[in-house]
Amino acid sequence: MFADEHIKDRIETVHRREIHPIHFNTFKVDDKWKETTVDLDERSCSCRQWDLDELLCSHAMAVGRFKGVSIKALSSEFYTTGFLKHAYEMGVNPVLNPEYWDISDAIRTRTVLLWKKNNLQGRPKKLMISSAGEKRKLRSCSKCGKKDTIK
Ligand SMILES: [Zn+2]
Repeated sequence: MFADEHIKDRIETVHRREIHPIHFNTFKVDDKWKETTVDLDERSCSCRQWDLDELLCSHAMAVGRFKGVSIKALSSEFYTTGFLKHAYEMGVNPVLNPEYWDISDAIRTRTVLLWKKNNLQGRPKKLMISSAGEKRKLRSCSKCGKKDTIK
């Protein structure tokens, strides 16, 4: 899998998870901070990472390890090296210089308006605004070393 580098840090945390079976292919996964539910049949985890990326989250990896199912079997085929090679086997043609582009008149005559930036008036504040009851820290000058001489 070419995505091995992306999931490397997830693999390192797998051993810290506690797995509690709920049903045949549904598990509750506990770590120190969070409790998630992994459903192997639906290929889903309540953290939503596996659902959205189709790349295993650490919870699903922990369940896969618990069940003896490989990471590759649970991951989407989109992350396999073979699928990546297949995506680029047709080749990617280079783009010519803009002077050779064939642009239709309908596109050429369009006026693209620039986004109007809403500038705030005045110079940006450099000092942090203190909260109520918070004392302002005295800054020292880098040249003379005196405290609070910077205005
Ligand atoms: Zn998860």
